[in-house]
Amino acid sequence: MSIETKTPAERMEERSLFQMVVEQFGDAAERMGLDENMRRLLSVCQRQYTVNFPVQMDDGSIRMFEGHRVQHNIGRGPAKGGIRYHPQVNLDEVKALAMWMTWKCAVVGIPFGGAKGGVTVDPKGLSIHELENLTRRFTAEIGVLIGPHKDIPAPDVNTNAQVMAWMMDTYSMQMGYSVPGVVTGKPLNLGGSEGRVEATGRGAVFMAAAACKVLGLNLPDQRVVVQGFGNVGSVASKLIAEAGATVVGVSDVSGGYYNPKGLDIAAMIRYSRSNGSLEDYPEAQRISNDELLALPCDILIPAALEGQLTAANADAVRAKLIVEGANGPTTPEADKIFEGKGIYLVPDILANAGGVTVSYFEWVQALQAFAWTEQEVNSRLRYIMDKAFAATVASAERHNVSLRTGALITAIALVADAATVRGIYP
Ligand code: GLU
Repeated sequence: MSIETKTPAERMEERSLFQMVVEQFGDAAERMGLDENMRRLLSVCQRQYTVNFPVQMDDGSIRMFEGHRVQHNIGRGPAKGGIRYHPQVNLDEVKALAMWMTWKCAVVGIPFGGAKGGVTVDPKGLSIHELENLTRRFTAEIGVLIGPHKDIPAPDVNTNAQVMAWMMDTYSMQMGYSVPGVVTGKPLNLGGSEGRVEATGRGAVFMAAAACKVLGLNLPDQRVVVQGFGNVGSVASKLIAEAGATVVGVSDVSGGYYNPKGLDIAAMIRYSRSNGSLEDYPEAQRISNDELLALPCDILIPAALEGQLTAANADAVRAKLIVEGANGPTTPEADKIFEGKGIYLVPDILANAGGVTVSYFEWVQALQAFAWTEQEVNSRLRYIMDKAFAATVASAERHNVSLRTGALITAIALVADAATVRGIYP
């Protein structure tokens, strides 16, 4: 049975992903009474760069690929955001993800603007050599935009430390010296940070713990379902299980896996690593994506792609708490349904901000050529995320809105203030 992860277009309830992000922004802007000029300024992306580039394949043929790098807003600092390799990547999606990065960096108070990049490709269909060629040529193509003080890429869906090493090397070869600060999420030996690989999943678990406190729930008593078993989903599953909770369902591209007595996450991670996916994992019942999202559980962590929780399936969700490990997993229609059902939802721009927060630590370490310990990284991460959670709860209460709108209001206020004090050039 294979999981049907619907395309964003099918899931987005008849609007594009970027329109959805602008809608979320407009809703928050309305609630906070944001000035009209500022609304116009912040509802568009400052720079959108599309490249079409050739890659030499192993059989000698040349294939053309399309990629994008978008900077939504760089008012608060250099542009920051991941690079994704996925067949569904398109300019609209990259713009949406770039805008979310602006808000995400502001919510956790790190000095970056928002960016995103991606190439339309299924990397599983490429050899390692072709993947390297694609990465190097794409890096060269977006070279006019990136740089340690301009725009700093990082891993996202289907990219990892190896891809970041190739990006860092390509940029460095062109500069003539090593520039570790040009990307984050690098291998440790190249100036990567302790704790970066786990950071997004770890941050999501911190947010699950913080939300449990608000709801008066004891984390170790909770049953958890995680959609997606990539970096974010697998780490979140592992860490929440280590915190004592019972992970009863997970999914990856091969389908959903359910065991009401609890899944052995460490064994599943080992299995997925050696097998390439969870396909045929024996110690669980096979279920579909829709069945997974509707499982009886307390905490649901969507950690796959955008547009997964929609008007079509939100009613079936039985969790009390949703922690968005992915970017944009919930449509505005589903948001309303969850609000109506009293489901507590920690939004993506807060719940998955652990990754970019530790990317910020990695960038600081690279600029200073000084490495922090894993314990320092994790405790600073916890401090930042708990503080952002408390600020979000306070903002939501003050404006009588959801945590999503509360987080957006905090973020938009900071970005708008930066634009105001800097003024309009010239
Ligand atoms: N791709 C991650 C995200 O969506 C991390 C971005 C970064 O570290 O710059 O937040």
